[in-house]
Amino acid sequence: MKQSFYDLNYSDLEAVINQNNLNPSVAAILFNWHYKKKESIQCRDNISKSSLDFFEHQFDFSLPEIDLVHESSKDRTVKFLFKLKDNHKVETVLIPFNNKYSICLSSQVGCAMNCSFCFTGEQGLKRNLTTSEIVGQFLQAWRWLASNRPGEERILNIVFMGQGEPLHNFDAVKKACEIFLSQRGTSIGVQKITISTAGYIPGLKRWSQETPGVNLALSLHSPFTEKRNELIPINKKYPLDEVLSYIDQIPLQKKQFITYEYILIKGFNDSPDDAKKLGALLAGKRAYINLIPFNPFPGSRYESPDLDEVENFKAVLDEFRIPTLIRGAKGDDVLAACGQLNSKN
Ligand code: SAH
Repeated sequence: MKQSFYDLNYSDLEAVINQNNLNPSVAAILFNWHYKKKESIQCRDNISKSSLDFFEHQFDFSLPEIDLVHESSKDRTVKFLFKLKDNHKVETVLIPFNNKYSICLSSQVGCAMNCSFCFTGEQGLKRNLTTSEIVGQFLQAWRWLASNRPGEERILNIVFMGQGEPLHNFDAVKKACEIFLSQRGTSIGVQKITISTAGYIPGLKRWSQETPGVNLALSLHSPFTEKRNELIPINKKYPLDEVLSYIDQIPLQKKQFITYEYILIKGFNDSPDDAKKLGALLAGKRAYINLIPFNPFPGSRYESPDLDEVENFKAVLDEFRIPTLIRGAKGDDVLAACGQLNSKN
């Protein structure tokens, strides 16, 4: 099987060109064509026929196919179901904000973390996505916007909060980030990419060393060991205090913060005591808290919190002077909200 062109970062592409004695300018031309212009047809820029033939013969330019598109009637959120070459399916969500979009990318088919509040976890891990399957979600969503909402094809934020544990598939995620960040590629700002993790320490180490400036979100969900063990089973292997002390000693760039995500579940972790303990744990850190009211899914064992409890929870955190955002459940009418992604459906 041919290698995918979209598995190559810029230096990989330069190496291919060098090894095959092609004109060095071809690297910039191809990156520009496929990532800046995001063209789906063969390159027609200033490139020799022999170089074009070489790439046509050696590389695969296909992308994951769009299998289904759900558009939210409430808020312009779009959920894509992509079909991969081996017929596995993954989901990607475009979330609108001020005429721009954030894209929520999947990094694995299914997930090994098995978090008790997450729909994706029920599938178990099927396999890692390749770089081209990650980059492909972005390119296909962009092209969909260009043809269906012309003028709106502005995807300025990338969050790895779709299916999978991105730090569990670090090589492919890292290379996708390199392509997104490349000035010759999509040229996304480093502070506009966020990797979200359940707290997988070996991956955290690689994140801090190999993707400097890329933001981190930690799914925290409870400051109490027993409760966090129930919600996020890998807490037993990589306990929260170890994860936090590892994160604390990572030098952050100017204006860089760590996002701590906290799902609020009715009667489980939404009391003022939970909030106080969370506040005490994070006070003084370069932290943002994202409060995420639990999104139910078919068969889920938890319930969404009452709005009053959500407001009270935030009020306690405000006393600790930690910036806190209550995340609205965008796209919940198409089951595209966090944790509702499960491509079995
Ligand atoms: N494995 C990574 C990324 C995927 S989950 C991680 O754990 O961070 C991305 C975000 O969606 C996490 O904060 C996760 O906890 C949240 N989420 C998952 N299921 C949810 C649900 N049912 N309701 C609300 N948020 C959910």
